[in-house]
Amino acid sequence: MQTLAGKAIHVEGIVQGVGFRPFVHNLATRLKLTGDVYNSSQGVFVRLFGKHSAIDGFLNELSTTPPPLASITNITVEDLPYESLGDFRIVRSDDAGRRTVTITPDAAICADCLRELNDPNDRRYHYPFINCTNCGPRYTIIEDVPYDRPNTTMRDFQMCSDCREEYDNPVSRRYHAQPNCCPICGPSLTLIGEDGDPIEKAVELLRSGKIVAIKGLGGFHLACDARNEYAVVRLRERKYREEKPFAVMVRTLELAETLIEMPRYAAGLFNGPVAPILVGRRKNNDILAPAVAPNNDYYGVMLPYTPLHMLLLQHDVDCLVMTSANRTDEPICIDNDEAVDRLSGIADAFLMHDRRINLRIDDSVLFATDEKPTIIRRARGYVPSGIETGIDVTGLAAFGALLKNTFSLGRDKAIYPSQHIGDLDNVTAMDMFHEVYDHLREILDVEVTAVACDLHPDYQTTRLAEETQLPLTRVQHHHAHLASLMAEKRVYGRSIGFALDGTGFGDDGQIWGGEAMIFDPASYQRVYHLEYVPLPGGDKAAREPWRMALTYLHHNDIDYRKYVNHAQAEQLAGLLDSKIPLLNTSSTGRLFDAVSSLCNLCHIATFEAKAPMLLEAAIGPIDDHYDFEIHDDRILTGGIIKGVVSDLDTGVDVSIISGRFHNTLVEIIANCARRIRQDTALNNVFLSGGVLMNNYISHHARRRLTEEGFTVYTHTLLPPNDGAISVGQLLVAAFRHRKDDQLG
Ligand code: ZN
Ligand code: ZN
Ligand code: FE
Repeated sequence: MQTLAGKAIHVEGIVQGVGFRPFVHNLATRLKLTGDVYNSSQGVFVRLFGKHSAIDGFLNELSTTPPPLASITNITVEDLPYESLGDFRIVRSDDAGRRTVTITPDAAICADCLRELNDPNDRRYHYPFINCTNCGPRYTIIEDVPYDRPNTTMRDFQMCSDCREEYDNPVSRRYHAQPNCCPICGPSLTLIGEDGDPIEKAVELLRSGKIVAIKGLGGFHLACDARNEYAVVRLRERKYREEKPFAVMVRTLELAETLIEMPRYAAGLFNGPVAPILVGRRKNNDILAPAVAPNNDYYGVMLPYTPLHMLLLQHDVDCLVMTSANRTDEPICIDNDEAVDRLSGIADAFLMHDRRINLRIDDSVLFATDEKPTIIRRARGYVPSGIETGIDVTGLAAFGALLKNTFSLGRDKAIYPSQHIGDLDNVTAMDMFHEVYDHLREILDVEVTAVACDLHPDYQTTRLAEETQLPLTRVQHHHAHLASLMAEKRVYGRSIGFALDGTGFGDDGQIWGGEAMIFDPASYQRVYHLEYVPLPGGDKAAREPWRMALTYLHHNDIDYRKYVNHAQAEQLAGLLDSKIPLLNTSSTGRLFDAVSSLCNLCHIATFEAKAPMLLEAAIGPIDDHYDFEIHDDRILTGGIIKGVVSDLDTGVDVSIISGRFHNTLVEIIANCARRIRQDTALNNVFLSGGVLMNNYISHHARRRLTEEGFTVYTHTLLPPNDGAISVGQLLVAAFRHRKDDQLG
């Protein structure tokens, strides 16, 4: 006969709001174990009594097949004296103690709920707020921890007896599903000012070319029929959005497949809990209205991810433009009154409901790179999950960059990046920063004891960091880019790093962005960089690529008149000739801008990175590259500009010029890496910065370096762009503090 044993099990990670306790209950009962399970703010605690073999089986299944949305970071097991109990129970939440529990991100509708949504015999047939422990709102409705209904915006609704029964029934899929509800007791949908079925009516309006504001999971979208040019053009006019492509939500995976080139992993992404916008190269057809993505080779596509979206797209429209409801660059609207107020000049109608959104969050955006997706915007479906770093980062906060801002908080050994907040150069984005910062600190229970920010003296975030009067670490922008990648990979030794980027403040006061470094999380040494050229007009130079074309020509003593045709060209040349001191830049992004303009692809960037995107899209098959030289620490770019000009003069096709240009950058990376390895024997190469969003550069640099025996790291959990800066800043601060501690 087997001996009887007892165990106390503590599970940490994403274990609340994901059906964890019912899972534990069902598993224990199936294995004929007794005991109990309860949620606490420090995770899930289980007491188990029964046969040794059954307890082993329990632990095995717990770690190998947890519920789909759970993510276990740690399991500790201790012995308990055996107790004879009658059954296995779920006991009430204990809300004392530190809040080390992790809240799960919002999750797209699951397959079971989708089936019920479309089952005429189900009591939630066509109910737009159906959810269960495997799907539905989480982060956006949480007001406090632990994650229990009274701490969510669902406290506005009293469960009916049927819902309550499911909620209390351990074998139900809705056991302790905090947002559980039904048509009797839950939120309801209205189309403001209209009677009748709100969804049918909304679809009717969309069909007739109207713009409808639709309340979603993390905020309002502005929607219109993506096949209707007239409607899309009107949306552009009303939103003052010239050319930046709109994302579209399409009815089925098959339809998405007819719009963009889809990598193998795309179906999994679309059908998974994140259900992001996937940006892919568009296929050649005219399904969508041209105004959806004018002069652009890519579409951003998503599938319906809430029951409400599912219902909308089951009707007479199959492709909807779905763009964050805001004015130009402001944060997304979440509140009903706020939406009506802020969007009244844009939307013709409002489809909304009474489930409050506590925290705004945008759709996540991923780029469809060959082997793996590249995250462009990390938001819904990812936040608030943390990046496990393996080192203590408790109490640190990092405030991020100016553009594509996120901030990060450190708790235990994980860094928690906020959702994408946006460009902090407008007041409402700053408001959102504070709103999310206060909330995330609260639900993660982080008491901030030290802060990190950018080296730039004038960023709003720098000033905020200074105002805290806490110990402050200032982190160089490109060091932060590379450190963010280290945090993601948990590889912290001295390494080779390439930060290929648009703009970042350098420690010499110039604008960096084409940097080869030797670095670790505490320090960096700038070994090579693209040679400096003037940056005439600061921000204007980034928005108007023709300026960089002229600057690069001027810098290389080439007469610009044949290649640059702009009303202000002479004026700019005069400025470059004058002795007026200008900022210098080593930015890779600006070099892309120059070449894109020289190739006549983009002279004015109506949205960020337009010029590099067009240049990448133009690449044709070619293996050779332009000349470059390395003098001391400078990578001389004259050979590139002269090569491009000579190709233009002899009528070489833009696809060849673009291919040669891209290949040159790959050569430069490989060449610099070899030189550094020769001098230092370092073999790890980290690639980060906005330019790594370029699929060609990221793919070929990676392949090339791997072939030469380097170990290469690129981002998978964080975006290569400025969205990851706060994570890097936080890691650098943690290592600098560690160093100080060791010295002290
Ligand atoms: Zn579900
Ligand atoms: Zn109900
Ligand atoms: Fe950057």
